[in-house]
Amino acid sequence: MRSVIYILTAAATSLLVAFGPAFGLGPATLVAGVLLIFLLGYVASVLAAMPASRGGGAALPPAGSGAGELPQGLGRALLQRLPTPLLVIGEDGRLTYANPAAQAILRAAVPGSHYTTIIRAPAFVDAVEEIIADGQDATFGFTLMQPQERFFEARAAYLPAGSAAEFGSTAQVIVQFEDRSRDKALLRTRSDFIANASHELRTPLASILGYIETLQGHAKDDPEAQERFLGIMLNQARRMRRLVDDLMSLSRIELNEHVRPDTPLDLYRLASESAAAMFPLASEADVILQIELDPAASGPAMILGDRDQLSQVLVNLIDNAIKYGGPGQKVRVCAAAPDPRYPAHWGVSVIDQGPGIARENVPRVTERFFRVSPARSKDLGGTGLGLAITKHILSRHRGGLDIQSRQGEGSQFTIWVPRCETLEASPEKKAKSRN
Ligand code: ADP
Repeated sequence: MRSVIYILTAAATSLLVAFGPAFGLGPATLVAGVLLIFLLGYVASVLAAMPASRGGGAALPPAGSGAGELPQGLGRALLQRLPTPLLVIGEDGRLTYANPAAQAILRAAVPGSHYTTIIRAPAFVDAVEEIIADGQDATFGFTLMQPQERFFEARAAYLPAGSAAEFGSTAQVIVQFEDRSRDKALLRTRSDFIANASHELRTPLASILGYIETLQGHAKDDPEAQERFLGIMLNQARRMRRLVDDLMSLSRIELNEHVRPDTPLDLYRLASESAAAMFPLASEADVILQIELDPAASGPAMILGDRDQLSQVLVNLIDNAIKYGGPGQKVRVCAAAPDPRYPAHWGVSVIDQGPGIARENVPRVTERFFRVSPARSKDLGGTGLGLAITKHILSRHRGGLDIQSRQGEGSQFTIWVPRCETLEASPEKKAKSRN
């Protein structure tokens, strides 16, 4: 660049000296002109030779300038293909590079922008500032609020000036980050679950301990009170046992959820057998249980399933219908009406005439420990885990649970399980599965 300026200066001087007199320029004017040309040439050559400033971002090549972009060559090609978001920030705080994975998350990640305008999270800003200042690698977490809250874990490495030819002559901070929102949500769910389960167990336990103290104390010589208190303690102990059983059941099902059951079953037959076992409970509760399934007439509804787990689902739904339906009401167990959301599935519905479930609570009843009315559920011996277990069992079967309910009009719970077409098509297998 400097040599070009020297050549231009020399050429302009020669032209002035050669043609100046022809244009009537006097010697004084010619000397002044030559001096001016030399002065301009000198200023231009000094400017061209000046090193790129560190603070003003001049070291940054403009975005999209091809070979001038950092990083370069193989390093750039590798980072472009990296699935993990990655930013390279110059020591002046301006973004040198954002790989496509980072750009997919951060719209403002344009080379040349200051890093504080790309991620404003204080934890990120402070961490990068510190790394630039002390040159130490660091690991930190930060949260982005848009469009929804997301938590990221980041690792930042300091690359001193000139340590890698591909990253240029100024120091860079390489920040790599990963979305950990799912892990964080899972951790939160797990700790909420443990807190809920402990609370559910602690309540009956506290009651049992209280009664033991009373029996040891002022009820020591009162046989009538002893009888009553022992009855309450028995109920509380049973409640604890149900809860432990449900917790164990939930954890077993979760463990096997990815393993699809492979035993051929007739869903209608299984449903009518499970429902028939509930007649004593229904009559005790003064509920009319109607089984409207006739496997012999309708033909088999073949599925691949786990007999015990599906029976547990049906018993839980019928038990709920009896419990929440209330005395004098009817509970029907029938083949589900076709539903376009579940093509190629067999379905069984359990329908009650109970109080129904408010619209906003319908999606929540399958959450662990969610109860519309906690006191009523506990009075009726509920653990708040039945529908959560149902959902997991159906998910293991690649099926689904549909809940239709209106307050004051009752509820309809339908289980859907994919049909097993091959078995239906083969009479030989059909006969085998009935045995
Ligand atoms: P629970 O042990 O409390 O019955 P579930 O998981 O089986 O737990 O059900 C969760 C909640 O859903 C119940 O507490 C109840 O509020 C509501 N629920 C379930 N089945 C019915 C139903 N057939 N009618 C009205 N509400 C129901």
